Amino acid sequence: MELKYVPGVGPKRAELFASELKITTDEELLSYFPYRYVDKSKIYKIKDLHGEMPYVLLKGQFSVFEELGVGTRSHRYKGLFSDGTGVIECVWFNGLRYIKDSVHRKEDYLLFGQPKESEFNHALQVVHPELESASKAGVDAQQSLMGMYNTTEKMKRYMLNSKSIQRIILGFLRSHLDPFPETLPAYIVEHYQLMPYNQAIRQIHFPATPENLQRAQARLKFEELFYLQLYLIRSFKMRQQGNRGFVFSRIGEYFNDFYYHHLPFELTGAQKRVLKEIRADMCSGSQMNRLLQGDVGSGKTMVALMTMLMALDNGFQACIMAPTEILATQHYESIVKLLSGMEVRVALLTGSTRKKQRDEIHAQLEDGSLHILIGTHALLEPNVKFRNLGVVVIDEQHRFGVEQRSKLWFKNVQPPHVLIMTATPIPRTLAMTLYGDLDVSVIDELPPGRKPVVTIHRWDQQREGLIRAMRQQLEEGRQIYVVYPLIEENEKMKYHDVEQGFLNMQAAFGPEYSVVMVHGKMKPKDKEAAMQRFVSGQAHVMVATTVIEVGVNVPNASVMVIESAERFGLSQLHQLRGRVGRGADQSYCVLVTGYNLSSDTRKRIQIMCDTTDGFQIAEADMQLRGPGDIEGTQQSGLAFDLRIASLAKDGHILQFARDLAKEIIDKDPLLEAPANNLLRRRLSVLFGKRVDWSQIS
Ligand code: ADP
Ligand code: MG
Repeated sequence: MELKYVPGVGPKRAELFASELKITTDEELLSYFPYRYVDKSKIYKIKDLHGEMPYVLLKGQFSVFEELGVGTRSHRYKGLFSDGTGVIECVWFNGLRYIKDSVHRKEDYLLFGQPKESEFNHALQVVHPELESASKAGVDAQQSLMGMYNTTEKMKRYMLNSKSIQRIILGFLRSHLDPFPETLPAYIVEHYQLMPYNQAIRQIHFPATPENLQRAQARLKFEELFYLQLYLIRSFKMRQQGNRGFVFSRIGEYFNDFYYHHLPFELTGAQKRVLKEIRADMCSGSQMNRLLQGDVGSGKTMVALMTMLMALDNGFQACIMAPTEILATQHYESIVKLLSGMEVRVALLTGSTRKKQRDEIHAQLEDGSLHILIGTHALLEPNVKFRNLGVVVIDEQHRFGVEQRSKLWFKNVQPPHVLIMTATPIPRTLAMTLYGDLDVSVIDELPPGRKPVVTIHRWDQQREGLIRAMRQQLEEGRQIYVVYPLIEENEKMKYHDVEQGFLNMQAAFGPEYSVVMVHGKMKPKDKEAAMQRFVSGQAHVMVATTVIEVGVNVPNASVMVIESAERFGLSQLHQLRGRVGRGADQSYCVLVTGYNLSSDTRKRIQIMCDTTDGFQIAEADMQLRGPGDIEGTQQSGLAFDLRIASLAKDGHILQFARDLAKEIIDKDPLLEAPANNLLRRRLSVLFGKRVDWSQIS
């Protein structure tokens, strides 16, 4: 049913629901769950309030009302609310007329809101409290848990607040006497003793007891995660069956020659395991779509190279796509070095490759004489045609959208195998959801001899000591990175800090030590030259923006100073820190901040100082920021919108849902069994409209 026909909604509110919350039907309204519950049996006393509390419930009366200010900004209505233990100010900026007409003195009210200290007089204040006449609190008087619904500022302006949503839903549930049909097959509901849908949907909005609420939540969270997993796993299965993959049955000359005669070190156990997983994929007859997660410095490039050699052994070509020119160049150089003495033709193709060279590369790709192509998104250009592309490696996949990646699929008569490498560890729960349709390999072991980076926090004011410590490292022959955030707000000022930092470093360490600078505004040629000076060891200090964030590898660099560290997210800090600790020496990461830190920032800094484990950091990041903000989820193409489950908190339910979904799909891949009819129907209701990106991940 269209939302406007739900009693209490009407066309005007329906428009608000649609524009603000994307809710357009009665069903969607029912799935708009409270974001929290207030225990109405717990009424606070005003004398116990302070400015750092969550939402609280009060019971009392208004004594005085006052209309203040003129103009839209300062015009407001104020009331003093007291409960016999103290007085608190209530303020309304919008909907004044309604409040004046409907709220009266000397009447008992239940007041719900968040007390805050006013900026003017430090008195406690509640802005736009929710009010309910205590005598009329009838609708849910017996019920102690009251659901709170998120609304937007705009909705509040039109008096569509949590309370009114609650009333609309209550009215709807009451008018709907028939039970809501079950949305999970009976065998699941019964076997796991889940709360039936009809009960769960009523209890989630109006819980009779805390136990009921908990069971309703568990059921609805499970259902949400279960259908998502079922969808992902089914797409995965269908793709696996639909996409034939090239079969690389041979391990031949290239691979063996490299392995026995050119490999400069012993592979780690994790590298070996991952290579085995990849090899199994490539012999399976299905197309490989594998995500390779590994912390910075874990040796993913080696895995990529050896994967490509498997393709070469079977008469195929291979390519690596990296997000930046610097990274592509570095891959190119290290791979050329590793392959020296072998008959493998490798080329680099980026935006700045000259036309003549580019033409040559195009020709060699087409006649098959070029084996491995390394480059940036320049590889995606339609005129880059391979004779027989067998493997595509994508480095740091977060920088590429799904659509971009998909272009590589069409560079051979059937899609090549795809290996996606990422150094931003994604928490398991998130990976399962985002990449439920990819196979995931993890390199969870660093090459031997690495000492964990020691991370310390320094205040701005402790710079002198920091400079002394840096000088000492330089004297020991080490190199140092100093990283600055970009000033986002102002184009003209954007590079101010880096440029100033560069001058400061020159003043502190020049002319004995050479300082270079790299940032995004520089010409690629100059950037490259500066990088090169640092990589070769001619330059000792590199002052840079986050352009060095991904991939760059200089084992002799042992200090990473991050200026204004409070302006970086956790995963970014971790990425930056990963630039050091690559050689045999003890490395350091110094996080420099100002004094004025928010509590979240303090937590971030603390986590960085406490651990170097990327997965632990990724988990913490997700807890602090919520999964929606984790780098990469936006571009994943599988944008998902969880209504009730939380990836950060409901990992165990997710695992359970995933296992069950897998079991069902394994037994009944097309969901044809009569018992699974409902599953098939629900999937098409829930995911029918969605573009099936899983076909091209
Ligand atoms: P990342 O996973 O961050 O891309 P790299 O592939 O750049 O890591 O590897 C980091 C460094 O570790 C490189 O210098 C590489 O040569 C080295 N390395 C890789 N595998 C091993 C290994 N098994 N033993 C020793 N060093 C290794
Ligand atoms: Mg790398």
